[in-house]
Amino acid sequence: MNKKLYSPLIFELSNAGSKGFSLPHYDYGKINDTLPDNLLRTSPANLPEVDEPTLVRHYTNSSNNNFGVDTGFYPLGSCTMKYNPKINEAAVELAQVANLHPAQPADTVQGALKIYRTLEKALCEIGGMSEFTLNPFAGAHGEYTGLMVIRAYHQSRADEARRKVLVPDSAHGTNPASAAMAGFDIVEVKSLADGTVDLDDLSSKLGDDVAAMMMTNPNTVGMFEKNIPAIAKAVHQAGALLYYDGANLNPMLGIARPGDMGFDVMHINLHKTFSTPHGGGGPGAGPVGVRAGLEQFLPNPRVTVDANGKLSVEMNSTAFGQISAWLGNFTVLIKALAYILNMGAEGLSKAGKLATLNANYIMHSLRDLFKLPIDGPCKHEFVFDGLADKSTGVTTLHVAKALLDHGFHAPTIYFPLLFHESLMIEPTETESKRTLDEFIEVMRNIALEASSNPDKIKNAPYETPVSHPDEDSAALKPILTYMDLCTTTL
Ligand SMILES: *Cc1c(COP(=O)(O)O)cnc(C)c1O
Repeated sequence: MNKKLYSPLIFELSNAGSKGFSLPHYDYGKINDTLPDNLLRTSPANLPEVDEPTLVRHYTNSSNNNFGVDTGFYPLGSCTMKYNPKINEAAVELAQVANLHPAQPADTVQGALKIYRTLEKALCEIGGMSEFTLNPFAGAHGEYTGLMVIRAYHQSRADEARRKVLVPDSAHGTNPASAAMAGFDIVEVKSLADGTVDLDDLSSKLGDDVAAMMMTNPNTVGMFEKNIPAIAKAVHQAGALLYYDGANLNPMLGIARPGDMGFDVMHINLHKTFSTPHGGGGPGAGPVGVRAGLEQFLPNPRVTVDANGKLSVEMNSTAFGQISAWLGNFTVLIKALAYILNMGAEGLSKAGKLATLNANYIMHSLRDLFKLPIDGPCKHEFVFDGLADKSTGVTTLHVAKALLDHGFHAPTIYFPLLFHESLMIEPTETESKRTLDEFIEVMRNIALEASSNPDKIKNAPYETPVSHPDEDSAALKPILTYMDLCTTTL
């Protein structure tokens, strides 16, 4: 372990008797008198004791060990790590928002419900859908919700034999996982050499046992599916529905709409396309949209509006069920709406174009040193298949680790599974040309050094607190508590 960069845990800094707080005088007798004996501690809690400067430095140093979009470039493909505008945070800190309780009667929260409804309408416009629910907490949660809507649709038509969901082999891993959670059998559809769906393979798998086809467009290799009208027609002719994984809607914003392409159900990740933070696995939001004719199956509760503009929260008996408490991650929804209103229609479509331009710029600046398996203009992201020089033994993992020494987060690696050495880069529209050029320079230097001095790249990173953890143990036996750390040597 790199001792210099390791910030001690607060327990290691503890010094008996040190104190970094003072409490106001309390006049109301002993607090213990009001609690039943069986709830009282028998011995004091094992809490660290530190002075205030030590406490402040501890948290500040710990936060410096974290990497985020606010600390450096984060080109994580398929994740759209764009800048999170600070004005979004100001919006959710307003007392009128922060002090709300979800169980308040609807007449006392008309403004909050209006925010919810306004975002639903904006997403309908952006996606070309008839209705949205904002209740799901994440992209995968949205996929599950969408598939449950599809299940309810087939059930409502007494078409119960549809047990299969088709998923392209390039799909994000959450697609087959969500379909399995929703009770379907998964059938994989092959991709062509250019990364798009193989229409012949798809046709051979369609039939009256297929409930839905899930697609990502642009797909996970950053290519637009040009055959989408033919795919939509074939899927609908077979009586199935077409699902759109819109986790990364970025390049389509204001340019093309899933609803117009023939998709029936879709989800959007607000924590990608709409600039809300990913927040270390949550909280996020994965709103789900449906075309006309499927609205009644959306999950409860629903926000409805009457002829006088009065908003209510209602339970709908045709909904497939409920997938979240209340109306989803409300503050995340507000941040996304703040972003949409700030950008306006013009700003959103500019964002999509810039994201595409930035990805193509990096791709072209590196394609002589990295292997580009699929040629042609990409959308918001693209995939290299490792280094062009395959003689050195330097892998995609080594390149990703070497980047960490330069203050860049690694791109997505080993996904999609279509290639052995996938290195998936998504710069987003929010990065300056200067940042892109710095990244390009570092990537070029890593590639050149991989050929001239491969061991130097293989042993990187040198500047991080931990360099080469055992990846299997890190996943299977993660160190999650202070006691775990005490009993482990890094
Ligand atoms: C991120 C992503 C998902 C899953 O979204 P989560 O919010 O992480 O659950 C699904 N599909 C694609 C294409 C994605 O990039």
